Amino acid sequence: MAELSPRMRALVQPHLAQIEPYDPAFAPCRINLSANENTYPLPPAVRAAVDEALVATPLNRYPDPMSNDLRDELARWHGVGRENICVANGGDELIFNLMLAFGGPGRTLTTCPPDFSEYAFFASLVQTPANAVFRDPDTFALRADVLVRAAEGSNIVILTSPNNPTGDLAPLELVERVCRACPGVVLVDEAYGEFAPAGASAEALLDRHRNLMVLHTLSKAFGAAGIRAGYLVAASDIIDVFAAVRQIYSVNVLTQAAALAMVRARDAYRTTVEAIVSERERLHAGLERLAPRVRVWPSTANFLLVRMARAAEVRRRLRDDHSILVRDFSASPGLGDCLRVTVGTPEENDAVLAALAQILDDLTEEER
Ligand SMILES: *Cc1c(COP(=O)(O)O)cnc(C)c1O
Repeated sequence: MAELSPRMRALVQPHLAQIEPYDPAFAPCRINLSANENTYPLPPAVRAAVDEALVATPLNRYPDPMSNDLRDELARWHGVGRENICVANGGDELIFNLMLAFGGPGRTLTTCPPDFSEYAFFASLVQTPANAVFRDPDTFALRADVLVRAAEGSNIVILTSPNNPTGDLAPLELVERVCRACPGVVLVDEAYGEFAPAGASAEALLDRHRNLMVLHTLSKAFGAAGIRAGYLVAASDIIDVFAAVRQIYSVNVLTQAAALAMVRARDAYRTTVEAIVSERERLHAGLERLAPRVRVWPSTANFLLVRMARAAEVRRRLRDDHSILVRDFSASPGLGDCLRVTVGTPEENDAVLAALAQILDDLTEEER
């Protein structure tokens, strides 16, 4: 379903007539490095704790609307109070609710593309005009002064740190400048924060900037994309807004139970996160060896952005000839000829490096 039928185009709200549903272009493959999931097995102790929690969860009662047990555990971890946390059915739901509550017609959202495409999509659903402060086309660095000026006229600013898909951090000094400049609210999306160096989180700024909120998810480092759990850390009156607009039962009992077990066992993930970070550097070095045919940007997340001639064809061959799925960004503004590769297990990373080298050799050969 790429677009709505003519009949439905006439019946839906006019601003939705041209909508194109998000398509992750998923194809079943031997190796899936397309969605930045954690491809490592769950630590066995975590899996056991989750299984035990699920078995003990009654299904006949509605969930606790606010996920208070999970909230308390997250609050302990992040050194805040329960009233500073809102749990949701994935980080995506929080981004949608952000637009619902603070966006809308005649208001302004500022984002810094290339970034997470869902921001613009959710903004469009609630008719929020998006003001794009494009990153430096070569380095993808944020353009600080332009951004701060844009923040001055914004109801919402979203910064992604580490950014998806470029992998870089938003400097904390810049986050502070944006918070000071913006009369509305500022979201720092730290979906990949666990993979970044210590001290990079904007959470350290929450006490000083009451309009700041920080988004997290269990979909990436926690290896739990399937359960749909995300959360927001912010001032309590911001959390009250999210509590008011959210669908009360969006976080089901199984998700609450599994997420609580995982967050309680958070220390058990350390080895996996360290392995992914070290594999990221190894994969980066392997991709650099394919230069100058491949350009790779430094990343603080669990993926790498790469650019190469005929990227869409390379991606197709990876999928069809090697059963390896990566994400094609070559048609996205500012990301011409770019692919995004999730950091996988050592075996998966070796496979993608070998396949890429072969495809690039074949393409060179074919051009002769
Ligand atoms: C994955 C991701 C999220 C949240 O994903 P959920 O699975 O909905 O929790 C949020 N922001 C960015 C930038 C992401 O890549």
